[in-house]
Amino acid sequence: MTRYDCIIIGGGTTGAYLARGLAKRGHRVLVLEQQPNDRVGTKYDIFHIEAREFTRLDIPRPQPGEAAWAFEFEKNRNADPLNKYPKCQINPIVGLHMHEYTLLLLSLAQKAGAVLRFGCTFKAFLFDDNGKICGVRADENGNDIKFHAKMVADCSGMAAIGRRSLPASYGVSIKALTDEEMFYVILRYVHLNHPEDYLDGSTFWAYYKAWIAPCADPAGAIIGIGACHSFDYAEQVYAELERTVPLPAHTLERIERGRTPYTRNCDSMVADNFFVSGDAGNLTKSVNGEGVTSSMVQVQLALDTLSRALQTGNTSRRALWPINRAYNATQGAEFAFLRALLVGIVNAATFDDFQYAFESGLISDDLLNALSGAPVPAKTLLTSVRAFCTGIAGTKIHPATVKAAITAVKNAVAISNHYKHFPATEDGFSAWKAKADALYERIGTIR
Ligand SMILES: Cc1cc2nc3c(=O)[nH]c(=O)nc-3n(C[C@H](O)[C@H](O)[C@H](O)COP(=O)(O)OP(=O)(O)OC[C@H]3O[C@@H](n4cnc5c(N)ncnc54)[C@H](O)[C@@H]3O)c2cc1C
Repeated sequence: MTRYDCIIIGGGTTGAYLARGLAKRGHRVLVLEQQPNDRVGTKYDIFHIEAREFTRLDIPRPQPGEAAWAFEFEKNRNADPLNKYPKCQINPIVGLHMHEYTLLLLSLAQKAGAVLRFGCTFKAFLFDDNGKICGVRADENGNDIKFHAKMVADCSGMAAIGRRSLPASYGVSIKALTDEEMFYVILRYVHLNHPEDYLDGSTFWAYYKAWIAPCADPAGAIIGIGACHSFDYAEQVYAELERTVPLPAHTLERIERGRTPYTRNCDSMVADNFFVSGDAGNLTKSVNGEGVTSSMVQVQLALDTLSRALQTGNTSRRALWPINRAYNATQGAEFAFLRALLVGIVNAATFDDFQYAFESGLISDDLLNALSGAPVPAKTLLTSVRAFCTGIAGTKIHPATVKAAITAVKNAVAISNHYKHFPATEDGFSAWKAKADALYERIGTIR
């Protein structure tokens, strides 16, 4: 009987990336994927990766003509609710086919030495005499199989089946997400009726949390919307978008629906012989709920600690704890900051506030480019400040929105500082969590 170093539940992008990383470091890795190999990564078709991420994360960048490649663009527009004053951010984006890209990442994991078992579904953990995880029970074609390992990683996506199967006392949250803690995403794949409407980039309407972006067919587009609560609610907001924004004339071809976590990442992502990543650990970006690369960032931060723990044979919660610290103090703090800011401002800002922000120059191309690292010219900052002050003086921005924005900034700074001081050891975690809970109570959730 092979005893693996690490069993990974789920062969999506996160599981594949983790498998490759561990196998490259010489560990014996087994990936259990419930789908057959021709169904893996088929939950939806197109997803986006910022071009700069390929190098940072050391993942392959598919080229035109290759199976996973769909399209590329670099103009990312943000627009007001009436779509009259779009602002443009230049940030190269690559559109990829999820199924093909997942298979590509899995093939790299396999080349590095990981064993893949498709059509193999995790059912339960195996525990040793001390109550510690020592493997899993799985179902493969109706056969109940036991696999043994030093540790198990949950990369099962929204199902979070490993994390949610842990004993309550294990030290990782076993809660399922509520409707308020996820985005319901609806993608409409459409054919654009007039060639003059063909897209050279994307447009995002923050007021509706909706966008239009290219798809693999140059004569097509994807019109997307994301909202908490339910698909019905997302459809209601979409209907409002259709009434207000003059969308290009189009013919609907198909609709895809999916859900993505939109909440704080698991406070602790490790336990004795256990690690959680990807959607299973709520590692999606707080600006848009995208989670492919943000999960890989956490895996990158975790790999050295995981590898050392496997080498020394000590995969206890204490030994894996540095992963929590490394993540929460960096990307965790950044996402917490942005979430608090967005929740506060987006929940409070009215249609008119959004309209004014775009019309007045408070939001500008340069300001948006700063989001991808470009320096903000002093003139731009001055224009924004002037527009903000004029807005307040002329009551173009509602006083309640200004008050909410100030509170949002204060909350964002407080929560981000709190994450930056995530405890370096398990001691102090209870106190840290209690304070984080209190801060999140103040921050609230997005409408
Ligand atoms: C409509 C939509 C559009 C999106 N667009 C983007 C985008 O453009 N860019 C971006 O970065 N993110 C995007 N996201 C988010 C992104 O899809 C996820 O964050 C990402 O796919 C998570 O990867 P994962 O590997 O953690 O989970 P998944 O991709 O869900 O993989 C989990 C795997 O685990 C398997 N599994 C589940 N249970 C078991 C079990 N019991 N036993 C064995 N295997 C199991 C599943 O079959 C699956 O293959 C989008 C999400 C949605 C819904």
